[in-house]
Amino acid sequence: MSAGRTATIKISTVFRIAGVSPRSQSTTSAFPRTAFRVASQAKHTQSRHFGNLFRPITRNRFQSLKHKSAQFLHPASRNARALSGQPLPQRRSFILNFAYRTAAIVGTGVGFVAVLFAAFFVYDATTYKESVNFGDCNVSMLALNPPRGGPKNLPIIEAMLDDDESEIAKERKHKPRLVILGGGWGSVALLKQLNPDDYHVTVISPKNYFLFTPMLPSATVGTLEFRSLVEPIRRILSRVNGHFLRATAEDVEFSHKLVEVSQVDAHGKEVRFYVPYDKLVIGVGSVSNPHGVKGLENCHFLKDVNDARRVRNQVMRNVELACLPTTPDDERKRLLSFVVSGGGPTGVEFAAELFDLLNEDLTRSFPRLLRNEISVHIIQSRSHILNTYDEALSKYAEARFARDQIEVLTNSRVKEVKPDRIIFTQNTEDGSLVTKELPMGFCLWSTGVSQAELCQRIAAKLGPAQTNRHALETDTHLRLNGTPLGDVYAIGDCATVQNNSADNIISFLRGLAFKHGKDPETLELTFSEWRNVASEVKRKFPQAVSHLKRLDKLFEQFDKDQSGTLNFGELRELLKQIDSKLTSLPATAQRANQQGIYLAHKFNKLAHCAPGLSRNEVRDGDVDDACYKAFEYRHLGSLAYIGNSAIFDLGSGWGFTGGVWAVYAWRSAYFAQSVGFRTKFLMMMDWFKRGLFGRG
Ligand SMILES: Cc1cc2nc3c(=O)[nH]c(=O)nc-3n(C[C@H](O)[C@H](O)[C@H](O)COP(=O)(O)OP(=O)(O)OC[C@H]3O[C@@H](n4cnc5c(N)ncnc54)[C@H](O)[C@@H]3O)c2cc1C
Repeated sequence: MSAGRTATIKISTVFRIAGVSPRSQSTTSAFPRTAFRVASQAKHTQSRHFGNLFRPITRNRFQSLKHKSAQFLHPASRNARALSGQPLPQRRSFILNFAYRTAAIVGTGVGFVAVLFAAFFVYDATTYKESVNFGDCNVSMLALNPPRGGPKNLPIIEAMLDDDESEIAKERKHKPRLVILGGGWGSVALLKQLNPDDYHVTVISPKNYFLFTPMLPSATVGTLEFRSLVEPIRRILSRVNGHFLRATAEDVEFSHKLVEVSQVDAHGKEVRFYVPYDKLVIGVGSVSNPHGVKGLENCHFLKDVNDARRVRNQVMRNVELACLPTTPDDERKRLLSFVVSGGGPTGVEFAAELFDLLNEDLTRSFPRLLRNEISVHIIQSRSHILNTYDEALSKYAEARFARDQIEVLTNSRVKEVKPDRIIFTQNTEDGSLVTKELPMGFCLWSTGVSQAELCQRIAAKLGPAQTNRHALETDTHLRLNGTPLGDVYAIGDCATVQNNSADNIISFLRGLAFKHGKDPETLELTFSEWRNVASEVKRKFPQAVSHLKRLDKLFEQFDKDQSGTLNFGELRELLKQIDSKLTSLPATAQRANQQGIYLAHKFNKLAHCAPGLSRNEVRDGDVDDACYKAFEYRHLGSLAYIGNSAIFDLGSGWGFTGGVWAVYAWRSAYFAQSVGFRTKFLMMMDWFKRGLFGRG
């Protein structure tokens, strides 16, 4: 081999090691020259130190060097070679590569899904039980033959059928009896936070499921299925090993600590019995407010799953009837005229969902004529719909409805509902009142809530302690006014928290003055004493905190005689002004939920305090106040769906609106609130189903 050839091989090796091609780099680029120089210098350096090692490269030596340098630079390829021993894969075309990779990914995916399916079937097979669980079980005679007693000599359910079933059940039977009336938002929140071991829990409700009401309008049009919104109460109760009685509470005998309960037996005969309690929680919700309007039997309501089912059937029935060729034009228009009476969140959300159904789904499978003749109307007594929301948000909702051709009739009051039309009065802009008629084929009555029958009965029984006509009054510890302290609580829609700080604090100060042998009317409070009174007001009435921020200003404002002190009259005036600023809490799931959680935490605390209290022989007095803080409502915002768009009112003037992304945010908020994994999963599937196949 010639010297020139040897040199070429050496240079090309160096270039390969440097990662460049000798031909392309030798002429133009500066880099290969540098590389060459570095390589030559390296050669000289090497020859200086390893002179005998540097010798002309033969072909064999070149192959060996090339292989070593490749191994040095790419150790992975060395491994690959060592592993396979096969020639390296040849370069394929881009299309072949793409096809190969796609097939690999799809194949892996299919394999993965197949493994998941197989795993599911294996699990599913384990859920079928062949063995039967018959056997002896303990049931107390008290449970089988309840003794009679109480004011009406009815059976008293002293023991439950499963109270002696297990050792744990036997232990729990001696715990304080906590009876909860109703299985709605308030009660379920309480059950979810209650310590499982502290109480013997019994829930009484005519319905054996919890209903996720905020999504009920979606169920009327098939966006969500009914079963996705309900959770069996027994399943929720299992966490606290509680008992469930499917029955209606009719009355409460406070002095005997008995709840009178009724149920219709298998022969249609009403049976009544008493359930004893140590602590009673009333959470029976509310009923639709009829506002004294005639003809409500021609309306639909939306309080329960059965209502939603009826609404769905009626909407579909009207649409099908409108499709008949024999249906006259006027009648078709009437059938397709949907009226919502009430522009609150429920009415608005229902109108929006109905519009979605008619606009997105029915146009696909029904004659187009129907879409042109469908009309949706909202009759609202106030000047805006969603009047509890920020005005800008309610205006946005109105504008959105105007775009969707949902007619909003504001300043209008329904007078009568006839089977085929609705009669209402409307305040016109010039101040006159005109009576109007609207032909309709469907009317939803959604104009607020009023007191349930049980609550009316209880309020009447408690007399002057209950003065509110709309709800049962409680103190800030949620104890029902007029009942022995710590026995009976009321939460949710059926109750309202009385913020009477003036009466409360004044009578407290009176007592204090008498105790110190002073005449309360001559009491004069200095600024520092007023500060102490204010902190007591804040502790007992947390809702008043925001109105007690500038104590110095209030002091100055109400010290009318500029004496530098507040006398009794001035203090009373000050506290009355604060009371007047406190509004009643909204009848929402959010409030009921917070009250349920509050009670659970308090009951847990009371159960822990109980041994200490009984050791110290503390049986009377304000134990709740001593052990736990008063209830404080925190408004987390109000949401409403308004048809492929949603509004969020976060309070204090903050809020936002948006299109589909806001709908997803709205869904996420409720999805997170949903009571269990089962309902979450079902809701998710329903939304998928709507996206893929429409509402059904
Ligand atoms: C369609 C609709 C949509 C709504 N949307 C929202 C919303 O988006 N956001 C929001 O915050 N709120 C919403 N609400 C309001 C919310 O549902 C109520 O504020 C909440 O349900 C009140 O909870 P509660 O525990 O007081 O009563 P409920 O949840 O109404 O539960 C009452 C329970 O008491 C039972 N009961 C009734 N009578 C008796 C009796 N005599 N004896 C024993 N049990 C009895 C009932 O069967 C029921 O289980 C909506 C309500 C409706 C109807």
